[in-house]
Amino acid sequence: MDDLHRQYLKAMGIPVWVRRDLPVEGRAGARAAEPVEMPAESAAATDAQETTSLDWPALAERVASCTACELHRTRTQTVFGTGNRQAQWMVVGEAPGADEDRQGEPFVGRAGQLLNAMLRAIGLAREEVYIANILKCRPPRNRDPRPEEVDRCEGYLHRQVELIRPRIILAVGRIAAHNLLKTDVSLGRMRGRCYRYSDTDIPVVVTYHPAYLLRSPGEKRKAWEDLRFASRVCAQGG
Ligand code: SF4
Repeated sequence: MDDLHRQYLKAMGIPVWVRRDLPVEGRAGARAAEPVEMPAESAAATDAQETTSLDWPALAERVASCTACELHRTRTQTVFGTGNRQAQWMVVGEAPGADEDRQGEPFVGRAGQLLNAMLRAIGLAREEVYIANILKCRPPRNRDPRPEEVDRCEGYLHRQVELIRPRIILAVGRIAAHNLLKTDVSLGRMRGRCYRYSDTDIPVVVTYHPAYLLRSPGEKRKAWEDLRFASRVCAQGG
């Protein structure tokens, strides 16, 4: 571990004296690639038919004026996504919270700062990655997204993935993992494995949401393991 990583791990509140460099194959339950079973026709495909020819400006415009689900009534603004549109890493979270709804950008506030620290710990600046959510509008009182809202919205994310074609998607939090991979397996059981996004060969690795890590700092070490696992998957080309 170099000084930079030591410094950032410290910033994340992770003690730096334990070394656990395990190869990808060495993690319990880890496999180089284990696609989950996907439904033959996902809801993403339905909306993707409407977005599949859109370029970035047209897609952003479509999202900004979207009224496809009830969440448009209560949002301050849509939260499209931010970052490098040629990114190798894409980070996908659940939905905007109060800060994101106000600022129009995903992962701001304390959770955003922790995400930035997590990314820096693996040598990535926030500006290098692309960050988006499953939903582009904030659910009231931060309740979980409803299936019909995800159905209506996920075509936008699907198109973002198509346009970026990242080398890896990091799904942060249970809701993001479940909706990206169409599964209800617990996050704990999904950790340390490599999945595939939809009908692509883009690898997906899951980890905890930074908001959860703020509430449960004891889990930050596991998040660090997940990030290193994701780095190895990305380096190995998925
Ligand atoms: Fe449209 Fe998605 Fe917002 Fe619903 S959450 S109004 S589908 S952009």
